[in-house]
Amino acid sequence: MQTNQTGSLWVVATPIGHRDDMSARAIDTLRNVAVIAAEDTRHSRPLMIQHNIGTPLVALHEHNEREAVAALIRRLEQGESVALISDAGTPLISDPGFRLVRAAREAGIRCIPVPGACAAIAALSVAGLPSDRFVFEGFLPPKSAARRTRLEELAADPRTLIFYESSHRIVESLTDMRDVFGAQREAVLARELTKMFETVLGEPLSELVARVVSDPNQQRGECVILVAGRGEETDAKLAEGQRVFALLREELPPAKAAKLAAAITGAPRKLLYGDKGDG
Ligand code: SAM
Repeated sequence: MQTNQTGSLWVVATPIGHRDDMSARAIDTLRNVAVIAAEDTRHSRPLMIQHNIGTPLVALHEHNEREAVAALIRRLEQGESVALISDAGTPLISDPGFRLVRAAREAGIRCIPVPGACAAIAALSVAGLPSDRFVFEGFLPPKSAARRTRLEELAADPRTLIFYESSHRIVESLTDMRDVFGAQREAVLARELTKMFETVLGEPLSELVARVVSDPNQQRGECVILVAGRGEETDAKLAEGQRVFALLREELPPAKAAKLAAAITGAPRKLLYGDKGDG
């Protein structure tokens, strides 16, 4: 039956590990919409079976987004309700869906969140780092030069920093963080949240790097890295770093003096001798 009313787009969070982290409202919504747009239909099928959800699934991923979004908007405009899910956690959070939600809102379609698991927020809730202000940075660039540039842009940020990282780059990324933010900056590695091997390690970056390098188990699974923002403690280190840098510069090239001063005091090297051109 054709109606004059548009349907609604329900943006539904699914578990990030523990199968029971699926809300009653999420199950109810997925049972009652006309169609579910899923990042990977094969991946989502077991979750549907587990919760007796018989609604048809269609694929919405980065390779078919343009056509899939247009087709879903047509269905919404014809009055059908659509749910959006991703492989895990909250759609759009380092996952597909932005273009669909954007197009739906532009078409005047109501978008309704059905909140639930999100690895970044789950990690922040147990990290013991300040949570009043934080910044979600998603995935860092895979190549070291671009990654370091991004980290350098964040070195003076006072807010808690949250990153997603794949396990095979965990050592490289933590090492870059130690070098850019300073050995003493507090960090937390939250791994395999809600799963059997859930681990939350909180240490200064130098100790965290050493522990992860020496224990291959810490290089497995899914992980979130959180880093304390630059704080008063960092400011004190910076003052000490600047003092040591000034002394060493009398005898050494500035880049080398900055590297040594950073290693000695734990002050971020970038803040001692940021732009390679000056000094
Ligand atoms: N949409 C998801 C969310 O709401 O968290 C994130 C999807 S993103 C493609 C996948 C990344 O999220 C992983 O590489 C990892 O960094 C993080 N992640 C997902 N599940 C996790 C878990 N159970 N424990 C730790 N990190 C997790």
